[in-house]
Amino acid sequence: MVEKRDLMVIGGGPGGYHAALRAAQLGQQVTLIEQGEIGGACLNEGCIPSKILTHFASEFRKQGHLQKMGMVMGETSIDLARLKSYREEKIQGLRAGVEGLLRSGGVEVMKGAASFLSENRIGIENGHQFSLFEFKQAIVAIGGKMEYPSRISMKSPFVLTEREALTMTEIPEELIVSGHDYVAIEIAAAYAALGSAVTLLMEGRLPFDQAIEREMKRLLKKQKVSVTTEVTILSVSDDGGVEVDYESPTGTRQVNGTHLVVCGKSGADLTCAGLDRLQLECEEGKIKVDGEGRTSIPGVWAIGDVTPGPGLAIKAIKEGKVAAEAIAGKTGEMDLEWLPAIVHMDPPVACAGWTEEEAKDRGYDVVCSEYPFRANGFAALKEETDGMIKIVSEKGTSLILGIHMIGPGAVELISTGVLGLEMAARAEDFTFPLYPHPSSNEALMEALEELTGHAVHLQRRKKKAVR
Ligand SMILES: Cc1cc2nc3c(=O)[nH]c(=O)nc-3n(C[C@H](O)[C@H](O)[C@H](O)COP(=O)(O)OP(=O)(O)OC[C@H]3O[C@@H](n4cnc5c(N)ncnc54)[C@H](O)[C@@H]3O)c2cc1C
Repeated sequence: MVEKRDLMVIGGGPGGYHAALRAAQLGQQVTLIEQGEIGGACLNEGCIPSKILTHFASEFRKQGHLQKMGMVMGETSIDLARLKSYREEKIQGLRAGVEGLLRSGGVEVMKGAASFLSENRIGIENGHQFSLFEFKQAIVAIGGKMEYPSRISMKSPFVLTEREALTMTEIPEELIVSGHDYVAIEIAAAYAALGSAVTLLMEGRLPFDQAIEREMKRLLKKQKVSVTTEVTILSVSDDGGVEVDYESPTGTRQVNGTHLVVCGKSGADLTCAGLDRLQLECEEGKIKVDGEGRTSIPGVWAIGDVTPGPGLAIKAIKEGKVAAEAIAGKTGEMDLEWLPAIVHMDPPVACAGWTEEEAKDRGYDVVCSEYPFRANGFAALKEETDGMIKIVSEKGTSLILGIHMIGPGAVELISTGVLGLEMAARAEDFTFPLYPHPSSNEALMEALEELTGHAVHLQRRKKKAVR
């Protein structure tokens, strides 16, 4: 028997569950199908567990400062078994929260693996049960598939994926991390804070404005992470540890470690979920969509990691909401221009908009300012004075083109930056409002004031007093 449904969402990751909840809010009858755990890669293996590790490492690093202020602590050590139960408890709690939201939002949740049988039919397999559905609309939110360099054998017990690295049961003595983006930096910085000797091999350059890249490298070095960029791994051998041969602009080198973490790239598996039965137009090996998530087949939508663009929950969430709104007859749009780039190292990095180089390449005559966190009172009282904020703006109009920061509170601060960029703000739009005091926000305000050399807390050479 074929059952009928209005909207079926395949995959309960951040893309899928946001789409399901928003569509239900807008009056749609929604069925969400999940073959694994609600929350997808983000909640169960990616964003949340990685931020539990980076948060743990960052709190561990704060001990010295807390003791200096008068907090009396006993001898400190790391118990990864406790961290594991903490992580599982948090993930379960968050997952139960989402499941509760789906229930109270009226979303029908089905367990099982969904597979397209045709352009308007889906089969769901759950153990020995198979059910058949006809849908009016379907959103494909099945996530991505991590791809690893074929020359590295991922079967070695000393070679781990980025997800396995988040749940290690011992702090590795000598850790080599190979990657291309924020995930590798976060893992490297976290384990260095917890006591590993870390070598970070980045495929390209650090993907940030040069001023941020310089400061990041300085801070990683200070935290005893040895960083090499523009690396190609030539071979990996393991014999009770790992030996990695690589090439970089400085030549061919070898590094030894107890473990190697390889951070994969987000691809898509278009042979699963019966997608190969559909004549879907594809791009970059993923499902091609328009600005609202429509695929080339009417009634079939796609969102998140299965579609082109960066493999980020930030994108999946927004795409889920946009597609749900379009299905409900509203107009939305997905625009990645001001997508923030975040690294949860200590201090964190957060950037939005164009780097100085990108702005120049786009033909802008630019003026930039740099403001160090050591000039910010709130950072000083917390002894979190490392880092800086760089603003890129257009000369003459003071239109803000890019906001780049590494420093305390950067991940929260960047929202103000994204909002300003979205609203085509000029420097005065940022400097006119009142800012909470004392706070890291003031560092952002002064970085903007510094575009005209007026940041109050930066020392300058004395001018002769006017008599
Ligand atoms: C270590 C790590 C750290 C990360 N940190 C961040 C971060 O800090 N910020 C950020 O924005 N992003 C981060 N990401 C990326 C983020 O996890 C992904 O971009 C995001 O999960 C993609 O969401 P999605 O909904 O497209 O897919 P997924 O989260 O992968 O969810 C897809 C779901 O579909 C289900 N599914 C698949 N096929 C079927 C089927 N046939 N039938 C039924 N169900 C099916 C799967 O079981 C899964 O639950 C991180 C990723 C990793 C690996």
